[in-house]
Amino acid sequence: MSDSEIDSGLNIDNSFARELVDFYSLFAGDKAPSPKLIKFNRPLAKTLGLDLDNLSDEKLAAMLSGGASVKGSIPLAQAYAGHQFGGFSPQLGDGRALLLAEVLDLNQQRRDIHLKGSGRTVFSRGGDGKAVLGPILREYLLGEAMHSLNVPTTRALAVVTTGERVMRQHLLPGAVLARVASSHIRVGTFQFFAARGQSDKVKLLADYTIERHFGHLKDSPDCYLGLLGEVCDKQASLIAKWMNLGFVHGVMNTDNMTICGETIDYGPCAFIDNFDPSAVFSSIDSQSRYAYSNQPAAAIWNLSRFAETLLPLINNDTEQAVELATQVINSFEQSYQQYWLTGMRSKLGLSNQEPEDLALANELLEILAAQKVDFTQLFRALGNLLQGGGETANMLFTDPEVFQQWQQRWSARLSRDPLRSKLRVESMHMVNPVYIPRNYQVEQVITAAEENADFAPFEKLLAALTSPFEQNEDFDEFSAPPADEFGCYTTYCGT
Ligand code: AMP
Ligand code: MG
Repeated sequence: MSDSEIDSGLNIDNSFARELVDFYSLFAGDKAPSPKLIKFNRPLAKTLGLDLDNLSDEKLAAMLSGGASVKGSIPLAQAYAGHQFGGFSPQLGDGRALLLAEVLDLNQQRRDIHLKGSGRTVFSRGGDGKAVLGPILREYLLGEAMHSLNVPTTRALAVVTTGERVMRQHLLPGAVLARVASSHIRVGTFQFFAARGQSDKVKLLADYTIERHFGHLKDSPDCYLGLLGEVCDKQASLIAKWMNLGFVHGVMNTDNMTICGETIDYGPCAFIDNFDPSAVFSSIDSQSRYAYSNQPAAAIWNLSRFAETLLPLINNDTEQAVELATQVINSFEQSYQQYWLTGMRSKLGLSNQEPEDLALANELLEILAAQKVDFTQLFRALGNLLQGGGETANMLFTDPEVFQQWQQRWSARLSRDPLRSKLRVESMHMVNPVYIPRNYQVEQVITAAEENADFAPFEKLLAALTSPFEQNEDFDEFSAPPADEFGCYTTYCGT
């Protein structure tokens, strides 16, 4: 071990580096001139097995900003392709990111520790390889909020400022995000060699993915069709969770869709305040391709591109392969509907199933859209309404009579459900959050951090988002929707 090598205590196993030699370029990142640990997710770090007793903040900052050598690790930038807003780019890859270490955590689960903003790689194209503090803090908040909302997601491990100023609209503090994922294999990773006609490489990746994520398929004669089915199922479940919470990812390009089913790349994403099925926040999504209500369709489109990469593995006869893959893709709609409706039933406090539930849920959403009602507040208010707090719910509507008519149907439906009322409210409060990362609040805490180096507001919001289902009077300010002056919210990619 050389002097500068960091002994992290991690149980490192470089399977991606070992088995997929053509899928990456070795890269350890640039050394930051003056790395400083701004935020560190200690509970997550512990589960990863980081030796926190022997790693000072200085060492952690050096390790989690790039350019340091971590004992036993083979850091690398991964290659991938991708359809971006429908147009295909054969070569994208980690342009400002790298896989710092692939580890077996304390539960023996394989996880990637990844850095974002750690310098230019062979995949950087015109980019500077950097990231700036504001968007990095935003990804930290959004990722941790999603985790606490029980949505599969990459986790945020650390934020390190680099001591550099990075040019965006003006000079901004440079920062690196360390994040953790079950893997960073994307639909775009499969597209990289599929687009080059190298199905032997696609097979290598498919076999690796099955081994890493879907071990039960290993001995199946239809393992590649099975892989497609599993990925479709995971995405159907994931997108349903987004929809149940009012989350808009904003950039569902195939390079931002993981095979393991975790939400990745919190760039232009945002949560809806007033319910609007056509909500779009991203500055570049002028065609509303990734609008809230288009997300299931966007997922099917991406999964169809994934299926195309697997066709040569599914069957030698292309026609047969297309037919088999199409059947699987076609099943997405139904499984998505099921996941979504199960989520809606929970939100409405229903434990049994009746055929009219779909209409009941959709009718409520129509009223919310027509009257521009705050999505998060309303669902939380429904639980409170059952405890006699009906006024709060009614106050959210400009025309409460329409809501009251719906409420009568809902009450009749609840009377046919076996859940006891106390349990019902508790179960509703476990899926209808009080706190979501509201856009205006996220902006406020980022501005305080960027302009005044004041991280207290960030910490407070993060604390609220870490227990999103528990009403806490210390966090009252975070349950409020934006004032009208906040106006339409716009988000940006690649910052
Ligand atoms: P994204 O939209 O963030 O998923 O990024 C799409 C592609 O652009 C990926 O290949 C990124 O690595 C790359 N990229 C984004 N920002 C930068 C940057 N500042 N420097 C280099 N590459 C970047
Ligand atoms: Mg991306």
